[in-house]
Amino acid sequence: MLVETIKCLEDNFSYILIDKNKNACVVDPSEPDPIINFVEKNKLNLKYILNTHHHYDHIGGNKEIKKKYNLKIVAFKNDLHRIPDVDISVDNNQIWKAESFKAKIIHIPGHTSGHICFFFENEKIAFTGDTLFSLGCGRIFEGTYEEMFNSLLKLKELPKETKIYFGHEYTLKNSEFCIKFDRDNNKLKKKISEIHKKIKNNIPTVPSTIEDEIACNIFLRAKTIDEFSKLRDLKDNF
Ligand code: ZN
Ligand code: FE
Repeated sequence: MLVETIKCLEDNFSYILIDKNKNACVVDPSEPDPIINFVEKNKLNLKYILNTHHHYDHIGGNKEIKKKYNLKIVAFKNDLHRIPDVDISVDNNQIWKAESFKAKIIHIPGHTSGHICFFFENEKIAFTGDTLFSLGCGRIFEGTYEEMFNSLLKLKELPKETKIYFGHEYTLKNSEFCIKFDRDNNKLKKKISEIHKKIKNNIPTVPSTIEDEIACNIFLRAKTIDEFSKLRDLKDNF
């Protein structure tokens, strides 16, 4: 399975997953045009849209892409009232399988109550939407601090080599926050210099890995809900 990163809107990432028969899925299509252009250029059979959560910058392309390719939309069972035209509703811990794609659904509430992660176990690839970013985590819009903390704990339990593909290019700004409160973290310093190189060369900072994030992401390094909550508040005003 190949993962192509497609930049959308200001700082969103959509992802196109391609198998060896050119069947494809798109994760969180923010807008239709960049996705359709890529699919046409590469002559893919786009068959599924996978949505991590209902925010418009993650489903904005659903309608037009579905109309063009007559494909199926996969989303969390509790979000059917706010993600239009879902064909396949999925539940926590369910395995979703189609063509050669196989992902475990992990419910990770906090940013929104219906946020899910698609974890492709065989490939060790996770799509974390707006819950886990590189060196950051999503704002808590619908959940509690505790829910978000527990969702991040679930993601920390994924195999260390898991590659994470997240919803926004916030990494540079996130790195400034992490280093401010974690000055002596050498792994973080090393990661920041890699990030600077990528940004300078206009290369997306995806993917990261669970191992890197556990070592460098201050929100994953928080030991208690209290510590996590304080950091989240500080970040909201950073
Ligand atoms: Zn969001
Ligand atoms: Fe978003």
